[in-house]
Amino acid sequence: MRSDSHIVSRRTLLCVGLGVGTATVTGVGVGFLTHQGTAGGADPGLPHGAGDAPAPAAGGAAPGAPKAKRAPELRRATPDSYRLRPLAGETSMGEPAAHPPVRTHAESRLSSLHGRHVVALTFDDGPHPEHTPRLLEVLRRHGVQATFFVVGQNAAAFPELLHAIAADGHVVGNHSYTHRQLPRLPSTEIRSELSRTSELIDRVVGTPPRWCRAPYGDWHPPSLKICSELGMEPMNWSVDTQDWARPGTARIVRAVLENTTPGAIILQHDGGGLRDQTVAAVDRYLPLLQERGFTCVRPSV
Ligand SMILES: [Zn+2]
Repeated sequence: MRSDSHIVSRRTLLCVGLGVGTATVTGVGVGFLTHQGTAGGADPGLPHGAGDAPAPAAGGAAPGAPKAKRAPELRRATPDSYRLRPLAGETSMGEPAAHPPVRTHAESRLSSLHGRHVVALTFDDGPHPEHTPRLLEVLRRHGVQATFFVVGQNAAAFPELLHAIAADGHVVGNHSYTHRQLPRLPSTEIRSELSRTSELIDRVVGTPPRWCRAPYGDWHPPSLKICSELGMEPMNWSVDTQDWARPGTARIVRAVLENTTPGAIILQHDGGGLRDQTVAAVDRYLPLLQERGFTCVRPSV
């Protein structure tokens, strides 16, 4: 699947010009565009133009929906069988807020309330039957908790993985149901994309998500309003690893180490394509981040 960063990079360039963007996103994005020469070739008008997952047909498979790769050992079950109340890995911290304020933009950094020298790892587009369990093992081994922005269709196909993410104490966030570009949809479809995913998460995990990331980080006023009405806060990122393009494990590690500053939110992917480089990179950079004094945290509102 094409990265969430494609469109946000273009939009961030515009935002920086207006003085409200994040230089980090732009810097990393441009750097990889230059080095890879691939991202720029993608048609930003197509939601899934350059990825290795097929574009979704209307009502069809989700991008990255691991249709033929379903691990045989993963047994399907009804979502209710995975429901936990209360759940150690609740979808976010704090008491649910029915209607948080309508935001003018999605935050790309953690607030100072999280403390100093903190960083949030975020993984989009899963769950994936091969890569998500491997990533969970790596995070467990390093004692780190992260945020997983899941695609509803993938989560519906693998509720056991959604459960596993939450059971390990990670935050489960909403990344829409079929990974479509929200500003291109009528409001009724935006609401459906987000509410279906929230309802699924609530059904499987036991609590609805408190955080939402629009596909490609592409928010607009109607989607921000619907996000609020569904009880979620929008979140983007400040460090884009461009891991979706498979630039090599070393380059992903370098993108993290060179661009992570206190309060950073790091974008990576556990679904939407081959993510072996991502998993290897996380395993490699986590001790280095911790050596530099960073603590990985779950986002709180
Ligand atoms: Zn995505």
